[in-house]
Amino acid sequence: MAIRITKVYTRTGDQGQTALVGGKRVPKDTARVEAYGTLDELNAVLGIARVFNLEGRRRKSRDRIEGILRQLQNELFDLGSELATPKEADMRALVKYAPGHGHVDIREMPVRQPETDEILIKVKYCGICGTDLHIYADEFPNTPPVIMGHEYCGTVAEVGEGVAGDWQVGDRVVGELHTGACGTCFLCRAGKPHICEHKLALGSKYDGAFAEYLTLPAWLAHRIPEGVSWEVAGLSEPFAITTHCLVERSNLGPGQRVLISGAATMGLMATIWASRLGAEEIIVSGTEMDAALRFPLARALGATRTVNVQQEDVRQVVSELTEGIGVDCWVECSGAPAAIASGLGLLKKTGKAVLIGLVGPETIPIPWNTLLYKELDLVGCFSSPPSSWQKALAVEAEEAPKLRQLVSDIIPLDAWEEGFARMRRGEVVKILVDLEA
Ligand SMILES: [Zn+2]
Ligand SMILES: [Zn+2]
Repeated sequence: MAIRITKVYTRTGDQGQTALVGGKRVPKDTARVEAYGTLDELNAVLGIARVFNLEGRRRKSRDRIEGILRQLQNELFDLGSELATPKEADMRALVKYAPGHGHVDIREMPVRQPETDEILIKVKYCGICGTDLHIYADEFPNTPPVIMGHEYCGTVAEVGEGVAGDWQVGDRVVGELHTGACGTCFLCRAGKPHICEHKLALGSKYDGAFAEYLTLPAWLAHRIPEGVSWEVAGLSEPFAITTHCLVERSNLGPGQRVLISGAATMGLMATIWASRLGAEEIIVSGTEMDAALRFPLARALGATRTVNVQQEDVRQVVSELTEGIGVDCWVECSGAPAAIASGLGLLKKTGKAVLIGLVGPETIPIPWNTLLYKELDLVGCFSSPPSSWQKALAVEAEEAPKLRQLVSDIIPLDAWEEGFARMRRGEVVKILVDLEA
């Protein structure tokens, strides 16, 4: 059985963080050496890996300990390559290699052979997501060095022994990003590994899919439905999120009126679902940035009205279209504090707010009493439980003509920087990175 040490580094002075060393929790402010493998393998490695507490030590002894740690790192790297199987080869991957703003580049990384319950995926496409921009800017939790990318599709290249009955080389797959979820907590047991405390999300805390290969626990993989193109399959992860929000968390149904704030990927996929669910009025609001590309697209996907809030009063538009009553459902995809503060006022009494867009600041002002006076329901949504993947994939082939329109461009990995910049400028909807190009 091969073991590959993927991360070996020291860390000191981290505030409020608990590090994991070979599955054992160690206190904050300790230097750590991190390695991956089965428990037995890790025990073998941890026989030489020691944990040093640097807190409160004098400079001289700190220097000495750091010297030992550097030596230890070398030993571990040697051990890692010694135990690596001959099959292991390097691949190109987009790596967040250090904390802080930026520190993202293409690096040679090892291809990790699948464990018994894992599959190795040859990645076809991986989409650039808003979250990737936040990881780049260090505004979203991440643990470098880590391979980025979590919206992927590809082909099974190798199958672990334990899942050989379920998967075959050549199967086309997409997959969830809930790596690290424990499988035993009350959330996991209720089918909600996407919010498990132990989750180490793929692409930010666990090696992701901006790489030629991805090694994935097989329980996270799904077959790509018959007749779905690679381009559409590459959109499965964000589509599963909006499926969770619109199908599982909202009561949106025929004849209802919905306001969708934000016209990027989430807003446009919410539009597809609102249309599919039979909403009578679908109002999509956005800004000047959305006027050229995203508003026309929203209308093509089923929006009955688009509103540029920098030119029009969204309150007046909603009032006119709902006889002054307000919308039944408001899907907040913008994460813009101003849109959030005004959105509650646009809901009808007893209406429902479905919240998807993360905001930058930790707290933002909202008109609290409006919630009470209007007896509103507020529903928070995060990520995509397995149930939402099943529902999303079940309709993906039917919705493929609409979904395909969200892919603005397909670029090679080498062009990632320009791709990120175009996403940041908002001039595209979704860019897929072709890992085979
Ligand atoms: Zn994403
Ligand atoms: Zn759990």
